[in-house]
Amino acid sequence: MHRVMIHPASYDTCRKSVDQAFELFPQTIAQKKVLIKPNVLRTSRTDEHIVTHPALLRAVVEKIEELSPAQIIVGDNPGLFNYGDNEAAFRQTGLMEAAKGYYKNLGNEMTAVKFHRDFMAQVGVSTDILEADIVISLPKFKTHGLTIITGAIKNSYGILPGAQKARLHQIAGSPERFHELVVHVFCLRIPDLFIMDAVIGMEGNGPASPDLRDIGLILAADNAVAMDSVMARMMGLDPKNLRFLQKAKELGLGDFDEKRIQTTDKIKVIPNFKLPPLSGKSIMDNPQIQDFMNQRASVIPRPDPQLCTACGDCIEHCPVGALEMGIEIPEADMSKCITCFCCQEICPEKAMILI
Ligand code: SF4
Ligand code: SF4
Repeated sequence: MHRVMIHPASYDTCRKSVDQAFELFPQTIAQKKVLIKPNVLRTSRTDEHIVTHPALLRAVVEKIEELSPAQIIVGDNPGLFNYGDNEAAFRQTGLMEAAKGYYKNLGNEMTAVKFHRDFMAQVGVSTDILEADIVISLPKFKTHGLTIITGAIKNSYGILPGAQKARLHQIAGSPERFHELVVHVFCLRIPDLFIMDAVIGMEGNGPASPDLRDIGLILAADNAVAMDSVMARMMGLDPKNLRFLQKAKELGLGDFDEKRIQTTDKIKVIPNFKLPPLSGKSIMDNPQIQDFMNQRASVIPRPDPQLCTACGDCIEHCPVGALEMGIEIPEADMSKCITCFCCQEICPEKAMILI
């Protein structure tokens, strides 16, 4: 039987919900490496509610401090293409301050891991995610034009730095395969605890819609399928119709059957909740969106010869050995490159440009 906490909260009182979450789903924190991953979709203002609210992040950080000593890391890989600055996204959303000095740029170091043969032979995952003893995922209650909802499972898509996300979108090719892909990425490191910001949620054409809803809840669970199915029901959806939840169930990751989920409060359907106006199919069939995706996913990393000092840091950090020193500056072998852009993040001279 899965359990999902449904706890009334505001951003001023969410620490109480976090305490309750840890009572229901206790974690042994002392001496552990604990990674907290909010959903930082992109650089935005706090009041846009596109990302996990800083008040929830702060409450979780302070809870872990209370249960410490532990090594705490707060991080994410914002953006589909990582063109923005990881630190800037945290700063502008207020999440940098809420991270209380534990922020780390997860795009700086990654480890190549085997992936699903139907998509890419290997992907680069942020090393800190793979090395963490405990991963706490902080998704936001939101809609998504392609996966309809984005919550506990989809938040794990951010464990992939750089343009891998765009490349995989492109390789998936159909909404159904994208749903399956999201589940395979989730399986690379299943988080231990999920605490969802549903104080102010998002409806309409997410994941960056201006349509917001006052929901006044924090949800928590130790199973992502159960948590996402509760969110889906609150949005008026039947979870069994969501392909990524079907796939997760097929893989034995959890269940969305109501009889298999115990909630701490009644699930209330949000009246007239607006679902994304475009179905996943129309997004995948939209030539403009596809062109944009293809263009971004085929970007090549190349050092600017004026700035590059040939220090070799990028070569050392490339997780798949795609960079080699050329005559004067490193060169990328695009048959090996997984477009993670770790080389761009790591370059001390900001010399690596994407063309
Ligand atoms: S890390 Fe930057 S400066 Fe160093 S070799 Fe690579 S591109 Fe050049
Ligand atoms: S060359 Fe750069 S973008 Fe390509 S895999 Fe290596 S680190 Fe990632």
